[in-house]
Amino acid sequence: MLRNKSVVFYGSTESRTPSIKDSIIGKFDEIIERLGILNVVRNKVVMIKTDLGYSSFISTIHPYIIGRIVKKIKDADGKVFVSDTLENYREAVYRGYTPEVIGCQIYPIAGIRDGYFYERYVDYKGLNILQLGGFCREADILLAISHIEGHNTAGFAGSIENIGLRCYTARTRYMIYKTMEWDKYFVREKCRNIKDMKNICPYNAINIVDDELRIDFRFCNQCMRCKIVDKNDCLNINRRNFESFFEAMAMAAKYVLEQYDEPNRFFINIALNMTEDCRYWGSITGNILPDLGILGSTDILALDKAT
Ligand code: SF4
Repeated sequence: MLRNKSVVFYGSTESRTPSIKDSIIGKFDEIIERLGILNVVRNKVVMIKTDLGYSSFISTIHPYIIGRIVKKIKDADGKVFVSDTLENYREAVYRGYTPEVIGCQIYPIAGIRDGYFYERYVDYKGLNILQLGGFCREADILLAISHIEGHNTAGFAGSIENIGLRCYTARTRYMIYKTMEWDKYFVREKCRNIKDMKNICPYNAINIVDDELRIDFRFCNQCMRCKIVDKNDCLNINRRNFESFFEAMAMAAKYVLEQYDEPNRFFINIALNMTEDCRYWGSITGNILPDLGILGSTDILALDKAT
């Protein structure tokens, strides 16, 4: 029944009584139950694809929450491991993610050299190969538990960003971002003041390479200051360039989903401690919104849309 509808379950941080049942943890338990995860894990392997944070970025999902679902899966006779990118895995211990705390092993998605992957050939704006982390294929069931936070390029990081970027090697993630540079946005022959444009960019998004202007779209905030000094209209800040990232990320997310039968895909968004910037920066920024709560669905698109 649940699979035929795009149902999203939501538990807010508000508690009517000071009981576990009415707390955010009780609501997390109820979302797990309503999603039916525990009905399908018996004798199966579950990969919890989550966000382990990076460097001093500590606004991650509390290890207690991960440990709580790990225990439930094991109690239901399932096998379970946690995975994230190699960079996030390396320092996860400093944020409290250890097998002793969460109750299961943690693996870097593409192994300890980022070299354990499966290739899918694609043809999209310079992105030719998707290197899917090998651990994605070690599991029968995908449970993506994603921390919601601001994201320069994606707008916000949710379930689609979690699997569409971070089930892949660093090389593939880099190439997904590079698709934004594919469509031509600068005409060198018309330009007479290339340095003015570079110097005015407050986000250091403009570089000059071999006398050509290059925008690193990951850092471009679309403030349009460069256009103010663009005397000969040689530079375009095009929507198309930014949209390329979304299309590439969606393509990559679809390939992850294809690894699992539809009844074996579950998604949970943890919308607590939502920072302005994402973990990639490795430092902590202020919260951009008050705590929202926890959302869960078997429909990744409906879940991110609701979030
Ligand atoms: S629009 Fe982008 S590239 Fe241009 S100045 Fe602003 S941040 Fe820099």
